[in-house]
Amino acid sequence: MRLGVFGGTFDPPHVGHLVVAQDACWALSLDRVLWVLAAEPPHKLARALSPAALRLEMLRAALEGDDRFQACDVELRRPGPSYTVDTLRELRAEHPGAELFLLMGADQARELPGWRAPDEIARLATIVALSRAGEGPAASGRDAPIRSLPVTRLDISATEIRGRVAQGRPIRYLVRPAVEAIIRREALYRAADAALSAAGTGDRPA
Ligand code: ATP
Ligand code: MG
Repeated sequence: MRLGVFGGTFDPPHVGHLVVAQDACWALSLDRVLWVLAAEPPHKLARALSPAALRLEMLRAALEGDDRFQACDVELRRPGPSYTVDTLRELRAEHPGAELFLLMGADQARELPGWRAPDEIARLATIVALSRAGEGPAASGRDAPIRSLPVTRLDISATEIRGRVAQGRPIRYLVRPAVEAIIRREALYRAADAALSAAGTGDRPA
């Protein structure tokens, strides 16, 4: 089995995520993509993340109806900060025989050398940088070979969606309706500080 691993805070998951995951699935002939919900990446502590249970509910709502996509909460079940290398070890044990593909935005791939055990990450999985077509190789890690995959990367972010909610602007078409329903039900992202938060880069502590 060819198994994609796509990590993020997904606060909220949006159509940009779905489009690149679909492109990666198609281009790499993946059987499944596990969407790994990050617990509390230290670099994002400037902004309080939405509660993990709600992010998980939104993620499941975003992935509903596509059997290739599956929400994965391994990092939520571990205490403390989560390192990608530990997650990959755990997924390897859970899915013996699967070939793992670690999917990430090109921005994150550039920071990979600063992550914990990049060489071991590369042994556990093929690292795939999802790049805009024409963006060129995302990174040539000294420690880790990175495969660059051109995808259609929509110019939206969760930061922008939170900002739109805080400003009362519509988010229809940027997130799936079931995700928007949860955002409205829970009155998420209404505080102005959500709109002002800086977007983090890099997924993991060094
Ligand atoms: P935030 O604005 O809060 O950082 P985000 O939209 O970047 O949110 P994340 O959960 O941080 O979403 O990202 C998860 C993964 O999706 C990362 O690998 C990131 O590079 C990638 N990603 C984020 N936005 C897009 C997009 N518009 N198209 C493709 N990939 C994206
Ligand atoms: Mg981000």
